Amino acid sequence: MIQIKESEHVYFSDSGEAVHALAPTTLDIPAGQFLCVVGPSGCGKTTLLKQIAGFLRPTRGEVLVRGKNVTGPGAERGVVFQHPNLYPWFSVEENVSLGLRLRGVGRSERSRTAREYLEMVGLGSFCDAKPYELSGGMQQRAQIARVLANSPEIILMDEPFGALDALTRERLQADLLALQRETHKTVFFITHSVEEAVFLGDRVIVMGARPGHIVLDVPIELSMHAGHLLGPEMKSMQEFIELRDLVAAAITG
Ligand code: ADP
Ligand code: MG
Repeated sequence: MIQIKESEHVYFSDSGEAVHALAPTTLDIPAGQFLCVVGPSGCGKTTLLKQIAGFLRPTRGEVLVRGKNVTGPGAERGVVFQHPNLYPWFSVEENVSLGLRLRGVGRSERSRTAREYLEMVGLGSFCDAKPYELSGGMQQRAQIARVLANSPEIILMDEPFGALDALTRERLQADLLALQRETHKTVFFITHSVEEAVFLGDRVIVMGARPGHIVLDVPIELSMHAGHLLGPEMKSMQEFIELRDLVAAAITG
């Protein structure tokens, strides 16, 4: 679904200084895979996500989606940013249904879909609220609902749960996992949390810095995944703990 071929990134600061953010990186992400990316701050995770999203062109190399060169953003790729970015003048429901409206979906269908995803993220009773009436965490949940409502084939998420409280985070992890099991979306998910990565991912990639590169690429083939055990109880199982420790060790080097 996503092919990253020898993709590199060099930023140039205003003073003309080069920052080599991403070393030549090659990565194939098959359709339906839930890929989690972890690594220290500044190792190029967001840069790689932006290349896939089409916000940044690789300095060298290329990124292909369904075999086509990425030259800009596209509706088949939905992006959930680290910070909520709702339109302040629209209600929560209008924010979530905006993409559907732009695609000409009728009012009642739009409203039904928007409400379904707002229910899913626990904001069913805030449809008519304005974004400023919501806490930061609630706005983030609304942003997630907005991306899901557009039903992109690929979901790119940049530390989407970082600012949420532990309970909300666990609920959204379980919901996202269930949704992905059901719809087989391809997910590229950046997180600071090793536990979250191993819990959500079918595969975890660890990146190292200066310049950014992949240091570990590990499949997460947990027997509890096969059993569709999706709850937090998974996190205390031996198999889970071993993988978590392996990933954590790769981050510290
Ligand atoms: P991560 O998401 O893993 O924290 P980033 O992809 O944001 O890392 O950044 C990788 C490196 O590129 C860092 O050293 C960062 O300072 C640098 N960088 C990111 N964006 C820019 C930019 N617009 N201009 C210059 N340097 C940047
Ligand atoms: Mg980042």
